[in-house]
Amino acid sequence: MTVPSTSQRLAVNRFVLDETECHIAVDQVLACASGTADRLIACCPARVYSRAPDGTLAIEYAACLECGACLAVADPGTLEWHYPRGGFGVHFREG
Ligand code: SF4
Repeated sequence: MTVPSTSQRLAVNRFVLDETECHIAVDQVLACASGTADRLIACCPARVYSRAPDGTLAIEYAACLECGACLAVADPGTLEWHYPRGGFGVHFREG
């Protein structure tokens, strides 16, 4: 029996996008000035955060795995994060 890789396991997850409410909000100015933006980009396993061409922080919240790592690296006041509303967000199918 072969053991699936992490990427293979993550690929079977299902994401239900809440198009009316984003569960992540970042203070762009404070996050970029404090270094939080770089830490968010580095820590997120789902690559939710990236640097946009204009230098701001881009947020692809639909891919969030709800692991909470970003909360651990963000300076106070730079990030607001809460779980998506019931029925939305990631639905893990394995593990
Ligand atoms: S909770 Fe995890 S997956 Fe979601 S944005 Fe934060 S670090 Fe990325």
